Amino acid sequence: MFPQSVFPDTAEVDTQGQLVLGGCRATDLADEYGTPVYVLDEETLRARCRSFTGEFRKLYPATNVSYACKAYINPELAKLFQEEGLGFDVVSGGELALLISAQVPMDEVYFHGNNKTPQELSEALEHSIGWVVIDSFYEMELLDRLAGQAGRTQDILIRVSPGIDPHTHVYTTTGVLDSKFGFAIQTGHAAEAVRMGLAAKNLNLRGLHFHLGSPIFELEPYRVATELVLRFAAEFREEGLEMERFSPGGGFAISYIRGQDPPPISAYAETIVSTMTETCQELDMEPPSLVIEPGRAIIGPAGVAIYRIGAIKDVPGVRKFVSVDGGMGDNIRPALYQAEYEVVAANKADWEPREKVTIAGKYCESGDLLASDIMLPELESGDLIAIPAAGAYCPSMASNYNLNPRPPMVLVKDGKSRLIRRRESYQDMMHCDVV
Ligand SMILES: *Cc1c(COP(=O)(O)O)cnc(C)c1O
Repeated sequence: MFPQSVFPDTAEVDTQGQLVLGGCRATDLADEYGTPVYVLDEETLRARCRSFTGEFRKLYPATNVSYACKAYINPELAKLFQEEGLGFDVVSGGELALLISAQVPMDEVYFHGNNKTPQELSEALEHSIGWVVIDSFYEMELLDRLAGQAGRTQDILIRVSPGIDPHTHVYTTTGVLDSKFGFAIQTGHAAEAVRMGLAAKNLNLRGLHFHLGSPIFELEPYRVATELVLRFAAEFREEGLEMERFSPGGGFAISYIRGQDPPPISAYAETIVSTMTETCQELDMEPPSLVIEPGRAIIGPAGVAIYRIGAIKDVPGVRKFVSVDGGMGDNIRPALYQAEYEVVAANKADWEPREKVTIAGKYCESGDLLASDIMLPELESGDLIAIPAAGAYCPSMASNYNLNPRPPMVLVKDGKSRLIRRRESYQDMMHCDVV
């Protein structure tokens, strides 16, 4: 009944039918912090980190796990991930600045993105970032020049696009030919980039990277792309390309709705490591160290959004709209790419589903629906609903549309809760306006 598989490890329903997360009742969290509120389960977060480091290093000790900050980051989480031995992927000067302010060491920080600005690259150089993952010819020239001016030699990887479709939503597919990301192997651009990287005076090309998209529910795309990219790398051995590092990116899937059954982390590890070691053996190539870049698969399953129900509108014979106090401002994913979610009535978690409803947000868009035509118990205004698997790409993509303040973030563990980001105030939202 209760869809345990999409909730954090510690989630349970108590004898009063109340949803409990990390030992805290959802109703108590809603009362204390208000709604909407995003709850992160610390045990699940740490367990996911340990699964990635553990499962990969068990098969291949030279693996680094680099957390993709764009899934969601904040200073307390940066500390937690550091404690768990993770490195970090950033895609903007802002994410980099956050890590710097959290005093994260820069050696295992990777800068990604298809259009890093001159300012962002200068900031990265200034703070001695470990790695820049080059995504365009423009960037290669720019970084070479800026590194020269800074008197530095910058370690780089080159992002190649292997031309493999991972069968996910078109908006989150990145490793195909028709993509703004990376150098396509197919067009010869990747080869040109490698030669340019080897020749660049102030850049040290130390390996290759690809990222296929997200979420990827199949193992096959990783196998095919890993083999293809390593074979591509081998072609440049004589020209001086040493594959010291290899990254097959992130994109590891999680279950958003019951019945969805993504491969376990161990299966991704097995596929990637065995393909890499076998291909390297065949090519007589020293296996590079491996960099894995999960974002969603670490923080997604740990997060639950809690909303309170307000207006309920029944259109007879058409649809029953149950409106909540959040929506597309804190979770754009259903509107952006038809993402689906489970919904649980947090204060009636063991009640029988009785009616088909649509959960609507409070934003002024008809498309602001969090879940459509789902079965829930009889609901009343004031009830709470919980949306699981909401830790990734919800708060990080949040906006102030309609000037709604963005929700707070609460970490729960062993019956205690801790605010790691407060709710925005109206003043916060007007802070940058110049009058
Ligand atoms: C977004 C991204 C990731 C993380 O993707 P997830 O689906 O969150 O695992 C990893 N690497 C790169 C280069 C990315 O752009």
